Amino acid sequence: MIRLTNLPVFILFALTATYIARAQNCSYEAAMRKQGLVEVSQAAPGVKVELKYATQDNFMKRDVYGCLQHGYLQKEVVDMLKKAQKSLEANKPGYHLLIYDAARPLSIQWILWNTLTQYPPNIRKNYVADPREHSIHNYGSAIDLTVADEKGKALDMGTTFDFFGELAYPSKEQELLANNKLSKKAYENRLILRNAMKAAGFMPIEYEWWHFNAFSRAEAKRRYQVVQ
Ligand SMILES: [Zn+2]
Repeated sequence: MIRLTNLPVFILFALTATYIARAQNCSYEAAMRKQGLVEVSQAAPGVKVELKYATQDNFMKRDVYGCLQHGYLQKEVVDMLKKAQKSLEANKPGYHLLIYDAARPLSIQWILWNTLTQYPPNIRKNYVADPREHSIHNYGSAIDLTVADEKGKALDMGTTFDFFGELAYPSKEQELLANNKLSKKAYENRLILRNAMKAAGFMPIEYEWWHFNAFSRAEAKRRYQVVQ
C-alpha cells in the first residue's frame, strides 16, 4: 500500500520509469538505430540538441514527435558535424552547434506538409519538402541548427527557426542588410554558423538560414533508405 506521505516520491518514480520506457520503446528511434543512424549527442558531445518538433515551440504550436526525443543522423553526416563543431570552436571557443531538427520520419513530413496549408504547394515546397518527393531530412542527411554561445544561449539570427519569409532567406541577405531589415550582428552570427558548416562540407540553401544538407537529394537517395 502507498502511504500518502510517499505519494510525491511514488509519482516521480512512476513518471521517470514511464519516460525511460517510452525512450527505449520508441518505434521511431528503434527504426533509425536499425537503419544504422547514430544518436548525435552521444557521438558528438560538443553538439547540443533541442528538437523543436518534440516541443510546442514550432510553427504548428504542438509536439508532433512524441516519443522521438533524440537527434539521429547518418554516421557520415555525424562525422561531418563533428568537423563543423571543431571549426566553430576554433573560431569561437566555448560555442556550440545547437540542433533543432535532424532525421525526420516520413510520416511526420506529411504532418508538416498538411499543416502549412496557408501556402499553395509551389510556395510551400520552399519551406517544407513535398513528402511525395521526400525531404533530405527523411534520409538523415539534413540538419536544422543554430549556434549557442558559451552560456548555451542561441545567437540572434534575425528570425526565429521556421520563420517562413524573406527575412530568413540567405539569398536575400545583402538586400536585407542594405534596407536595414537584417542587422549586421545577426548577419555576422549567420556567417559564424554558415562558415563552420561549409568548412565541414555542408551545403546551405536559399530559403532558410538554419537548414544545411550533407548531400544533394539524389545523392542521399542513392546512399540511404527513407526513415519511416
Ligand atoms: Zn530543414
